Amino acid sequence: MDRKGILIVVSGFSGSGKGTIMKKLLEEHDNYALSISATTRQPREGEMDGREYFFKTREDFEKMIAQDGLIEYAEYVNNYYGTPKAYVEQKLLEGKDVILEIEIQGALKVKEKFPQTLLLFITPPDMETLRKRLIGRGTETLEVVESRMRRAAEEAEGIEEYDYLVVNDTLDECTEEVHRIIQSEHSRTARNAQFIERIRKELKENRKGE
Ligand code: 5GP
Repeated sequence: MDRKGILIVVSGFSGSGKGTIMKKLLEEHDNYALSISATTRQPREGEMDGREYFFKTREDFEKMIAQDGLIEYAEYVNNYYGTPKAYVEQKLLEGKDVILEIEIQGALKVKEKFPQTLLLFITPPDMETLRKRLIGRGTETLEVVESRMRRAAEEAEGIEEYDYLVVNDTLDECTEEVHRIIQSEHSRTARNAQFIERIRKELKENRKGE
């Protein structure tokens, strides 16, 4: 049976742990491809161009927009973030489940363009844990932590737009939950039109032979 790749959007507050979950998901299962976004924000310590992000100047980013090279883009806390188109298209053709780890404005644009996209929202169990994770990361100034908490409050207003809510209490369980949701999604009748068509045809042929 042909297995078609699913386009999956994963969002969550900055500090929800979604990046770590995605990394683990990719290490443990081989049918996933993670899209690498372009951004104008500065690399954090330890980040590498082409691994976490493609780091761009505003000018280069605007060129990508003008050349229609992005599936979606959004401004988030004064920087551009966007999803390059070519990689996603290629991996879906290869039958991979392609994950976009993007914020909510981008998520909604992707859903509008591709209605079959599966939308997952990841959240820590409570907002005190979120603040502690953001501070503990040590990569952001207190001012940025506060602006990310404010942004979280805005993003929380859109959670119902997502198909599933996954609470990141323990990393292992959350990763498995995400994997299970995606696997079940493959069984939806709407995603198996070709298979259904084929068995119907086979049944018709069987009746002819009766
Ligand atoms: P960070 O600066 O913490 O890496 O990312 C900030 C936010 O931008 C996160 O919510 C992240 O998911 C989101 N983001 C990363 N890449 C993209 C993208 O390509 N498009 C959109 N719309 N958001 C993105």
